[in-house]
Amino acid sequence: MKLLEERIVKDGVLKDGGILKVDSFLNHQMDIGLLQEIGKEFRRLFPENITRILTIEASGIGIATIAAQYFDNIPVVFAKKSMSKNLDGDLLTSKVISYTKGLEFDIFVEKKFLSPDDNILIIDDFLANGQALNGLIDLVNGSGANLVGCGIVIEKGFQDGGQIIRDKGVHLESLAIVEDPKDGKICFREQ
Ligand code: 5GP
Repeated sequence: MKLLEERIVKDGVLKDGGILKVDSFLNHQMDIGLLQEIGKEFRRLFPENITRILTIEASGIGIATIAAQYFDNIPVVFAKKSMSKNLDGDLLTSKVISYTKGLEFDIFVEKKFLSPDDNILIIDDFLANGQALNGLIDLVNGSGANLVGCGIVIEKGFQDGGQIIRDKGVHLESLAIVEDPKDGKICFREQ
């Protein structure tokens, strides 16, 4: 997605450890016009009958809610990263190792929000080692719902998450795939 790639080049900041900071437009401050274009692009790439979008707190939520407007305002469900007294029904859970924090944690969704009749699209901001996406796919599988595919805003092509998820036979679409940065320069995989 050209518009996104141009924005990453303009405002993205490469940090040590292969971290790409895009907090001025994607996952801290959010550019709503850009998120709308991202939502439209996900709709174009996933024209199927989708009944719910699943994402994970916190950064995925804003992206998924704007995208849902281009999928006939279907509900957005987000996996929670901590247990709380508000989670009182039957739960689906999975384990995830955080790329940015290096810690393992559980993720939760109440069973009633993912049903076997659902066609699910998973949306998230980044794909690095595939931990978050694997956890979300686990939740969908546990619910008996049909996974239509996964839409990622930025895939880091130099980490193996994309390969792992595609090898599972999952329909994965990443709007920008960043190659291994050389001399601090951001380049993208041709798609
Ligand atoms: P994974 O689980 O695929 O290893 O990492 C994906 C998760 O880690 C995303 O939900 C995202 O929040 C975070 N993440 C991974 N790499 C980056 C990065 O380079 N920049 C930012 N801002 N977040 C990242």
